[in-house]
Amino acid sequence: MISLAQNPPRLAEAVKVSSFDPGDTRPGEGAGGRDGQLFDLVADPGQDQVSPRKLIRKLEVAGLEARDPRLDKTLSLIRALEDEAADDPIPLDRDAFRRVIQPSSLLVERALLGNLAVPDFASFSADIERLFEATRANEGGEAASYIPQLGRVDPDLFGLGLCTVDGQRLSLGDAGVPFSVQSSSKPISYSLALEHHGEEGVHRHVGREPSGQSFNELALNSKGLPHNPMINAGAIMSAALIRPDLGVAERFEYVVDMWTRLSGGVAPGFDNATYLSERRTADRNFALGYFLRENGAFPEGTDLLEVLDFYFQCCSLQITARAFSVVAATLANGGVCPLTGEVVFGPETVQKCLSLMYSCGMYDFSGEWAFSVGLPAKSGVSGAIVVVVPNVMGLAVWSPRLDALGNSVRGVEFCQRLVKEFNFHNYDSLVGGAHGKKDPRRQDRRARQASVVDLCWAASEGDLPGLRVLVAEGANPNHADYDGRTPLHLAAAEGQVAVVSYLLGSGVDPAPLDRWGATPLDDALRAGHEDVVTALEEAS
Ligand code: GLU
Repeated sequence: MISLAQNPPRLAEAVKVSSFDPGDTRPGEGAGGRDGQLFDLVADPGQDQVSPRKLIRKLEVAGLEARDPRLDKTLSLIRALEDEAADDPIPLDRDAFRRVIQPSSLLVERALLGNLAVPDFASFSADIERLFEATRANEGGEAASYIPQLGRVDPDLFGLGLCTVDGQRLSLGDAGVPFSVQSSSKPISYSLALEHHGEEGVHRHVGREPSGQSFNELALNSKGLPHNPMINAGAIMSAALIRPDLGVAERFEYVVDMWTRLSGGVAPGFDNATYLSERRTADRNFALGYFLRENGAFPEGTDLLEVLDFYFQCCSLQITARAFSVVAATLANGGVCPLTGEVVFGPETVQKCLSLMYSCGMYDFSGEWAFSVGLPAKSGVSGAIVVVVPNVMGLAVWSPRLDALGNSVRGVEFCQRLVKEFNFHNYDSLVGGAHGKKDPRRQDRRARQASVVDLCWAASEGDLPGLRVLVAEGANPNHADYDGRTPLHLAAAEGQVAVVSYLLGSGVDPAPLDRWGATPLDDALRAGHEDVVTALEEAS
């Protein structure tokens, strides 16, 4: 809920300090311009005033939150109004509405017009909540206990944070309870190393192949390097590559600062008990460190014990699923934090990081995960899974009970449910809309119209390769034009039997009705295309 703090500044003062001059209306921003249209979207028909609460409610429904730094100024203007009016908030007339939204006008406009990354955020949230609650019933697995402190966490805890690339937020269950990041810190440590040394500098010291072995296996690749940065040996190497020019204290501060920037201003905590507990029980990680040193894998001048200590510290950073989802959304957004607009990582760093999360992020389940879930992700033994849907959103699921491979049982189940319901799998676009999964992303209306026209054209011409390309690009072969004519109608009417077979094989509706109530079979019969008639009759 957006809640309004006590004792905010008076509206008059707040407006005075704003750079906005009410007399200086830019074209399109007067009562009848863009802002006037936005006012009409919030106000009841025919009304000249609207309650600020109603505006806030509309922003909430679009997925925006009060803590969103982009709304600070608008909300403090509204708070000031409320303060002035005590119990009875002053409604906004058109002019006051314009002043209130002016500091965040682009964001407010996109939210009110349904132009954020997930336009119908209310139904999307309801679907996510349903999947989350269905997953809760799974009490399988055991919390990790090889680090004694991890075994003491309540295993029933279950939280989910979600943030879109436009900063729409959802927090469910124990999304506000902090946990130690453990291995889910590895993508960030790798990205920090990349930012400093570039691809060549990093991959001189660490490979990029899945290891096919467990995360802490005492094994290196044929060059004597860690297989990849998502397993322990590779993450110890990332720790050695993060700002080696700094002293230990400054290096830790640097990492905390970067996590803070990735999560839009929320500093991670530090779980000292887990850190101490891991350090005392880390024989395997010490062994890996010495093994790496024996093979000459570290950069010259590396202080092994310092690096191991730093690696344990990175694993013991504490974060909530809520804040972690913003970190994931920053990755989904190519390195730009959706809440602050800050470029935290370069897009090439993110591209490399996501590639390795995709192939190596889920321990010994990585191949199966890439096959069946098809999204870059990283899990950790605390029960965290951080997942990136590129250009759409980031999410973090946390539940401590793990399966035999070390992944959160509920986390894996939730993600499997997610990609069954929504077309988020990396290769769902090849199947187009025919598998019936939901697509919650913003659609460009003009592009959609164009793709229907293109599909129908390719179908009527019998251009099967062209049709396949359009479907691969995301065009939905079930869509119809204004007259209800689908690609299948067009192909049937023109006797394009290969296209008809392809469309039927992709699972399109075999008998859609156009606006005159005709099916593709009616078209084929009318035109006397017998082979098409046979194919359609067999399909229905
Ligand atoms: N701190 C843990 C370790 O190195 C991280 C393990 C994990 O989450 O996979 O053992």
